[in-house]
Amino acid sequence: MNKMVKKSEVVSLATGLTRPSRDEAEAAVRTLIRWAGDDPDREGLLGTPDRVVRSYEEFFRGYDEDPSEMLQRTFEEVEGYDEVVVLRDIRLESHCEHHMVPIIGKVHVGYLPDKRVVGISKLARVVDAFAFRLQIQEKLTAQIANTLQEVLQPRGVAVVIEAAHQCMTTRGVHKSDVAMVTSRMLGAFRDNGETRREFLTMIGRTSV
Ligand SMILES: [Zn+2]
Repeated sequence: MNKMVKKSEVVSLATGLTRPSRDEAEAAVRTLIRWAGDDPDREGLLGTPDRVVRSYEEFFRGYDEDPSEMLQRTFEEVEGYDEVVVLRDIRLESHCEHHMVPIIGKVHVGYLPDKRVVGISKLARVVDAFAFRLQIQEKLTAQIANTLQEVLQPRGVAVVIEAAHQCMTTRGVHKSDVAMVTSRMLGAFRDNGETRREFLTMIGRTSV
């Protein structure tokens, strides 16, 4: 994955902030191990700071990606196609910004094209670019929808996210089977009940 190489860049593309050095990041992990009550110098933990820092490069690679740029290439030869386009059940892997533990779920994205369409894999890449950051589900939902609306300028955008938050399942209130559902409907999906229902049917829901 060539994307991960970029993470070693000193400045975060998303924030413009300079990253600490790798050594500093590993020292922070050692501190957290001691905070947990263990000894970072025992054999089983010696390689852990390095592994955690490398895991962060995967979990948070979205900070070096530009979602708007991913949508720049569009196709106009669509033979007048003007129906809803839906990509459903996109696997969501993110991290909650309050506890830094996983949010796992599904994202459904729909839009109603206005003359141009985008390669469907790009929709999934936009989801990932925002998901591989520290997030709350509400913000993630809005960021995906707003970016699609601004860049593609379609007649409408719909985003529904269903996800489980490990900060609820493995800590805090310990509720295991709860899914949080968020949605953002723009343009025709907001104004036209029929278009919204068509989208919800396509993703297998009767409501959000
Ligand atoms: Zn949380």
